[in-house]
Amino acid sequence: MAARLASGVPARIVTGADDICAGLCPPAERHCELESASARDARALSGASEILGRPLGEGDEVRLDRDYLSTMRAAFRDDPARGRTPCGDCPWFDVCTDIAANGFAGARL
Ligand code: SF4
Repeated sequence: MAARLASGVPARIVTGADDICAGLCPPAERHCELESASARDARALSGASEILGRPLGEGDEVRLDRDYLSTMRAAFRDDPARGRTPCGDCPWFDVCTDIAANGFAGARL
């Protein structure tokens, strides 16, 4: 999946389980469909829209190209008020903070 996205295949914005989750988790085990995850996703979408300067919504497609990743990573690392709007209560907060602090080294995209 990461290789396909890196090659320029656009990612489509969805609500609930994406193609990865849907293929791995039976419906009853999909934490991505819990209210807390939905609220986090909505904050992420709002933050991404603000950073990119254009509205994004379900069904829209984005190419995760070099410019996109550079813009989003800079906001994530250097402008947490905009770049980390969904992250406050996320259990992965420290992991993602460390990845950003290390320059996203080893990230597949
Ligand atoms: S901490 Fe990481 S996994 Fe959690 S919402 Fe932020 S970017 Fe996503």
